[in-house]
Amino acid sequence: MKILVINCGSSSLKYQLIDMTDESVLAKGLVERIGIEGSILTQKANGRKYVIEEPMNDHRKAIELVLGALVDEKEGVIKDMSEISAVGHRVAHGGEKYATSVLIDDVVMKELEECAKLAPLHNPPNMIGINACKELMPKTPMVSVFDTAFHQTMPEKAYLYSLPYELYENHAIRRYGFHGTSHRFVSAAAAEMLGKNIEDLRIITCHLGNGASLAAIKGGKCVDTSMGFTPLAGLTMGTRCGDIDPAIVTFLIKELNLSESEVNDIMNKKSGVLGVSGVSSDFRDIEDAAAKGNKRAQLALEIFKYKVIQYIGSYTAVMGGVDCIVFTAGLGENGIDIREEIVNELGFIGARIDKERNNVRGEERVISADDSKVKVVVIPTNEELMIARETREIVEK
Ligand code: AMP
Repeated sequence: MKILVINCGSSSLKYQLIDMTDESVLAKGLVERIGIEGSILTQKANGRKYVIEEPMNDHRKAIELVLGALVDEKEGVIKDMSEISAVGHRVAHGGEKYATSVLIDDVVMKELEECAKLAPLHNPPNMIGINACKELMPKTPMVSVFDTAFHQTMPEKAYLYSLPYELYENHAIRRYGFHGTSHRFVSAAAAEMLGKNIEDLRIITCHLGNGASLAAIKGGKCVDTSMGFTPLAGLTMGTRCGDIDPAIVTFLIKELNLSESEVNDIMNKKSGVLGVSGVSSDFRDIEDAAAKGNKRAQLALEIFKYKVIQYIGSYTAVMGGVDCIVFTAGLGENGIDIREEIVNELGFIGARIDKERNNVRGEERVISADDSKVKVVVIPTNEELMIARETREIVEK
């Protein structure tokens, strides 16, 4: 069975064609600048790079070219589109309705539209991608895999904000959490790697990328996570502020005379480690600047690590202990120094790093010392594979 995984953004589209017999990636690609000048499709398959540069006014055209690239006589990996058994779509927000992935039909599409007001930047492009695929492959089953679904097991006390209850009842304002596909994938992989049943484990997964979030996972179920109503909450991120006093928003509007979109821009695009350091949103640049003595870059790193440590402490308390801490995503998989510095602050829960084991990038490995009371592991995330697995499961049902 071959499954096409589509992750559609507002002007970009990532895809992978995965052969589920051995979970190998037959082709992966990226389309950029959809709807703007300079549209480009780059596909990697058969150890070769294939580039198509031609106008793509909309996602339908982009997906048409993706399918063309996959069946291309010279550069393609399949003979015919009928070889694609199903398409798995990454969808940002499933609201409270979806705690699992779902086969897409007209009812689901209607409900996704409802959810769009909860994720106005993300759900609409996801839906455009689904519609384009439906048009071009009307007989192929499509599955929606939600970033929020894994977190739907959180108890009320973890997801409800202390706001008037009517805001939850009438406007669905609550914590949802994101990166769920990643948290689910790495927690399952960690249990497997440790040879343990996930039901017996208390795991804290640290998805540290440009967007960053932590999840507390007890017995395989998410019991809390750091992102909230939107992906702005929680940790300090590349450009996002994470948790701040909400009164700052009204202060900025009132005292600095900023508009709603200016405040939004500050919190989403000009804050985080970029805002504090004034250097970059990329941790590599910040680490370089900090090593050269840049005080604000050093401060940005300190704040970032402090927040991760705070959350780990909090989630350890929430679960009554922790058996395993997982590092994943760009920084989690590659940031050797940051991992060491974080784990060095976790002596109070008995976590101890093994410096040599920790000297690893992008590889599945236990990085804690043998006498560490908590297993600390690096697991490269693979959201595409998780989406493909979910899609197969739903389609086979
Ligand atoms: P992601 O959003 O998961 O792609 O992660 C992107 C972030 O990972 C970038 O902002 C980088 O700061 C960070 N990153 C990637 N590679 C490294 C590395 N070798 N060392 C430190 N940080 C890295």
